[in-house]
Amino acid sequence: MFDNEYMLSFLEDILNTPSPSGFTHLAIAKVKEQAEKMGYTTKLTPKGGLFIDVEGQDQSRKIALSAHVDTLGAMVRSITSSGTLKYTSIGGFNHNSVEGEYCKVFTRDGKIYTGTILTTKTSVHVFPDSGKQERKEQNMEVRLDEKVSNKKEVKKLGIQAGDFIVFDSRTEITEKQFIKSRHLDDKASVAIIMAVLKKMSEEGIKPLYDTTILISNYEEVGHGASFIPSDIEEMLALDMGAMGSDLETTEFDVSICAKDSSGPYDFNLTTHLVNLAKKNEIKYAIDIYPRYGSDASAALRAGSNIRAALIGPGVHASHALERTHLEGLVNTAKLVYAYLTEKE
Ligand SMILES: [Zn+2]
Repeated sequence: MFDNEYMLSFLEDILNTPSPSGFTHLAIAKVKEQAEKMGYTTKLTPKGGLFIDVEGQDQSRKIALSAHVDTLGAMVRSITSSGTLKYTSIGGFNHNSVEGEYCKVFTRDGKIYTGTILTTKTSVHVFPDSGKQERKEQNMEVRLDEKVSNKKEVKKLGIQAGDFIVFDSRTEITEKQFIKSRHLDDKASVAIIMAVLKKMSEEGIKPLYDTTILISNYEEVGHGASFIPSDIEEMLALDMGAMGSDLETTEFDVSICAKDSSGPYDFNLTTHLVNLAKKNEIKYAIDIYPRYGSDASAALRAGSNIRAALIGPGVHASHALERTHLEGLVNTAKLVYAYLTEKE
């Protein structure tokens, strides 16, 4: 039904494109290029996100789909006297989830340096408490792959406070079609939207209503879709489905979120999505995410007068070394496609 090969190769491409919140221009450019290649009109927003316009069969209603291309990351906070970097987090993650990770530092004059994120007491041969040291910002640092041993030498490289630090995504697609990577939240949804758009453009299918697709770029810091055009009355946010504890979502499902930290999603729209999943025999799970917010929450909190719902592929170990499966992507794409094209 969808070009799965395209979906996976585009996903791999954007997973390997750095895009922590605030440094998303490279990933946005890739999405823009793809959408235009498919024949859609796009527009960059002043804050660096992207609108993709899809003409509908009926102009009486305007709806929106969203997914965010920004990810977790970090920023140089300061340079230490021994020539390592202290960082400040971008987005919410546990420091143990990036400990040992390879990273890249992007300077403002376009240089890129590699490094590794470590605790300040990593060596077990030296520090008796290396295992017990609390994993918190003050105890973490970036070891640069450069011959530097003091602050002056690091400054000479052109590195300074405010430079972006990008974690290695470690993207791998296994033979059994598991996708292992950082940042599946929410690049998996971006790839799903692109696969749906590709199908519609190739088969000449128009959605029921005029549809604006927002690829947002500040979701992880809370204000991604805080601006949406005022004529939009309905918004479906695509973002990862969380897994674990008492939740039912798996990596093979499309998760339909009924309530998150922003409260319950729209009753009728959420029920409609559940009914579409049932009718089309799409594997789904309904879950509640109290420790979670989405682009739809950002739009609602910013004052948008919309019906909103949230769906997405199940992602294991979110905001760490995440994993999902092609089946979860396909089930989400099927539900998005049904939502866009099937009458209530
Ligand atoms: Zn997300």
